[in-house]
Amino acid sequence: MATKEPEKKTDSAWATAFQNILKLEESHGFDNKAVMGGLDKFLAHWSDEMAARSVIDENFMLRESYDSMSAKVREQWVVQWREALGGPADPNREPSHTVATPTKAKPRAKKPAADKLATEKPATEKKLAYKTPPAEITVDAPVDRLKGVDTKLTARLKKLEVETIRDLLYLFPRRHEDYSTAVKITDLEPGKECTVVATVWEAREVAKGPRGGRRDTEAVISDESGNLRAIWFGQKFLARTLKPGSRIAVSGKASVFRGQLVFENPEHEMLDASGAGVHTGRLVPIYPLTEGLTRRNMRRLTWQAVQNWLGGLVDALPEDILRRTKLIPLLDAVDQAHYPKDTESWELARRRLAFDELFTLQLAMLARRRLQHDNVKGIELVAPADVIDAFYKTLPFPLTNAQRRCIQEIESDMRGGTPPMSRLLQGEVGSGKTVVALSSLLSVAAAGYQGAMMVPTEVLAEQHFLSIGNLLSGLPRPVQEPHLLTVYLEHMDRPISIGLLTGSSKAAVKRELAKRAADGTLDILVGTQALIQEGISIPKLALAVADEQHRFGVNQRSALQERGNENPHTLIMSATPIPRTLSLTIFGDLDISTIDEMPAGRQEVATKWLKPEQRSTAYDFIRKQVEEGRQAFVVCPLVDESETIESKAATEEYQKLSEDIFPDLSLGLLHGRMPPKEKEKVMRQFRDGELDILVTTPVVEVGIDVANATVMMIDGADRFGLAQLHQFRGRVGRGEHKSYCMLLSDSASETAKERLSALARIHDGFQLAEVDLELRGPGDFFGTRQSGLPSLKMAHITDRELLEMARDEATKLMEYDPDLKAPEHAAISAQVARFVDRASANVA
Ligand code: ADP
Ligand code: MG
Repeated sequence: MATKEPEKKTDSAWATAFQNILKLEESHGFDNKAVMGGLDKFLAHWSDEMAARSVIDENFMLRESYDSMSAKVREQWVVQWREALGGPADPNREPSHTVATPTKAKPRAKKPAADKLATEKPATEKKLAYKTPPAEITVDAPVDRLKGVDTKLTARLKKLEVETIRDLLYLFPRRHEDYSTAVKITDLEPGKECTVVATVWEAREVAKGPRGGRRDTEAVISDESGNLRAIWFGQKFLARTLKPGSRIAVSGKASVFRGQLVFENPEHEMLDASGAGVHTGRLVPIYPLTEGLTRRNMRRLTWQAVQNWLGGLVDALPEDILRRTKLIPLLDAVDQAHYPKDTESWELARRRLAFDELFTLQLAMLARRRLQHDNVKGIELVAPADVIDAFYKTLPFPLTNAQRRCIQEIESDMRGGTPPMSRLLQGEVGSGKTVVALSSLLSVAAAGYQGAMMVPTEVLAEQHFLSIGNLLSGLPRPVQEPHLLTVYLEHMDRPISIGLLTGSSKAAVKRELAKRAADGTLDILVGTQALIQEGISIPKLALAVADEQHRFGVNQRSALQERGNENPHTLIMSATPIPRTLSLTIFGDLDISTIDEMPAGRQEVATKWLKPEQRSTAYDFIRKQVEEGRQAFVVCPLVDESETIESKAATEEYQKLSEDIFPDLSLGLLHGRMPPKEKEKVMRQFRDGELDILVTTPVVEVGIDVANATVMMIDGADRFGLAQLHQFRGRVGRGEHKSYCMLLSDSASETAKERLSALARIHDGFQLAEVDLELRGPGDFFGTRQSGLPSLKMAHITDRELLEMARDEATKLMEYDPDLKAPEHAAISAQVARFVDRASANVA
């Protein structure tokens, strides 16, 4: 750049002086005595000149304290500065994108003291490209080690979860501003947002009004095409920063004043020189900010961290993985994630860092799984095949291929015994998960063991018990009580008994079921959390099934497993269709079976997105359906603030509907603040047809099966994710009657419109989930419920290829070194430990 010329001339005297001091320092063995009182005094004095000479690409270093460096580091530092200050240009110098080896000097540093260093790594391949922090300080040092970080700033950084220098290095920009798309001054269009890269011609402080009044900075900046005026109102200090000849990027809207182009209060960025975290790069990082932290501040800090501390990071990825995956080295990746050369470099950096996240996540999952399952002896279940085959013949329908496949996957896990099964059975609402679970439970019973199925609500437990009864209705059944079912399966010499146990079961029933469970004469127990309460033991428990897994915490799941004497197999059922990428991420510790096929003859729920003014049409439609004997759900808008506000809103909606719109119909209300008993009562009333319309907050998602309900009206539909809307829709269309889903939204953004029209068009849950994911990203996919979801900063949930690569590599690594004990895996092991720490902090 033309502007660099004068700089070089003016600072050449300085450079010579510095060079001399460095030479002296070298001959003294780096004892900090080359100048009286130590080098630091000079460094402080010369910070501007030094900064002007530090160009990202050449990795010049701006140290705050020479005194605090170890001798080894001093040497590296001096050598680099000497090179930088006009030692003859090294024709072999590699671009900065070489692998960094924190403890190694450049091959050029052939000084006696360097021999020791040189032996640490073969001198052939790598050069020191990134500065190593002082040996005694690690990147895990608190962030206040950085220059200019005081207690106030420390507190602010903490809000961004930045406590150590490592955290700061891993605080990646949300995006980059691309100054390469800057326009020439002649091409500026007044009134349009744009960026200009130019040189400061002159800048001065201007007084406005009387003495003591406002003082502005006015500058004239120019590029080869012309010049323009920039004014910063009330910012007189800026005048001193804008030194003539310095390069500046200015963004804003230009206006025309007296025939001249003017920028008023534009965003500005110095493009070279100064230690203030500025950049020669064309892509300027934009960081997440918090109260009291400016963009400029953040850049100053990350710049400092990247320049001075990057070398303290250790690339944990073994060579062979790097080679196979063709990812770039970690230090380059972190560097380029902050201050990329261009967008391609940034994408390479992102890939590498995303891989790290996914790889670490997979390792953590596999480790957890190993802890829970490997070497844990499971129960080998050998069920007589003819019993189950006979059961299939009595079913009122043929199983779908997907159901058969899932049953086989489960059976094969259970036959294998060790390790115990840990499997997720996913399939959307109505795909027929119950019969898959039942078949597995019957196998367990036929093999002489016990099984249990836990569901989140009493109504659901009752529903499961009833549908199990229906599925078994083709069999002779000597006993059928409200809480106990006994059936004879062909080829079995004894009856199989199934009990229902919930919080509201009568004491006598509870006692009897508990006794039969304990003495082993009860084969299958269906129930709510009551199952895991004290006093219930299921000694021969071999299979624990949990339905609607997201409603149960991991702890409840394991509490259920502990009911038995041995380690039971577990099957978790989820009706939320989760794209494979996401399930691998979240349920990496589970195997997955998917029912991806609906039973034949299912009708599609007609779905329509209504405009706000069509609200009354929607009400009329509900009324018509009720007159035909059907029932309807009305889902109230999602309220982010709190369950209390949400419940209040639902209550108001309920009052409005029952008083003004449907005074003659019977309505029920369901919301999160109601006591569980009350909720159960309302759900029961709706199921039994005592209510025409159920007004509900999104809790209805828990899923009651009401064949007679044909209308699902969702208010504020734009506020829900597709997956959730699809779940709601699945609540209707479960019987013989044609069903409808009406989506209402008062104001819908473009993406919301896209979502709603996707829902009207697509009826396959998995396909919708993929679309949802693309539109919303993973964080929102589950909403706040999935709070244990570790935060992935660089990985996109759509990085399917990366994810599978990470999973493969993690599996391979664990096979080879299951405890990550090998010395070369120490860094990975530490990375996994940090991840687990963070994840558990998130859950807590
Ligand atoms: P979900 O996966 O939502 O739990 P269910 O197991 O409740 O689904 O099944 C929904 C309905 O479909 C039930 O009435 C069940 O009897 C029926 N069903 C299950 N499998 C089949 C099949 N293969 N063919 C026809 N109907 C089926
Ligand atoms: Mg179900």
